[in-house]
Amino acid sequence: MTSATESLKDLHHLHLQIEESRAELKRGPIQIQARENFVKKKEIALSEFLNNLIQLKKTSDSKSLDLKTLEAKLENLGGKLNVASSNREFDTIKGQIDADEMAKSVLEDEILELFERIDEESGKKAQFEQELESARQEDSRFSEQFTQRSADLKQILEDLNLKLQASEKMLPSEPLVLYRRLVNQKGAKSMAKVSGGACSNCFVSITAQQKILINTDSFEFCTSCGSLLYKDDDQGE
Ligand SMILES: [Zn+2]
Repeated sequence: MTSATESLKDLHHLHLQIEESRAELKRGPIQIQARENFVKKKEIALSEFLNNLIQLKKTSDSKSLDLKTLEAKLENLGGKLNVASSNREFDTIKGQIDADEMAKSVLEDEILELFERIDEESGKKAQFEQELESARQEDSRFSEQFTQRSADLKQILEDLNLKLQASEKMLPSEPLVLYRRLVNQKGAKSMAKVSGGACSNCFVSITAQQKILINTDSFEFCTSCGSLLYKDDDQGE
């Protein structure tokens, strides 16, 4: 026949296991949410990257068009220069050509720089796609795993609750009332093993008298934290 304080030990273990399983069940959706958020972040990163690339290409196209227009203008000015009727007209056209040649050179540099940037950026595309794919895979892997795990946990909890009900029947009716009140308030934290002569919840030593009483199967509470105490098997006495 199990003593009442030995039942407390079983009850404590059951409550701890129940709390652990419930916490794991509760954690799952939070962990899934975190992975979904990460996927969204990677989707945004890829989309921003692609938009940036499109923007660079647009700028480059627009500058290339400007260059063509400028080249046509220069060709036209060259023709005019050949048929200039006066020195003044010649100088004016020459001045225009010089200014446009300068603008053309600047534009060519800008276009070259843009080409290099587009080339460099394009090389990063695979990495952005890979990171998104990995995030998606991790999200679905974890979700699938948790679906399975949560089914298991629900079964585990059902079994633990049945065991708990059976173990609670071992308690005499008076301590049972106390036990229920404490468990409702503090869950598994309402009980503590006496380990090395101290309460294992708050580590405050129990009195010699309490030790004797616990050994004679009396229900004792930690004077410091109020935990319902039970004897530690390993301590023997
Ligand atoms: Zn305590």
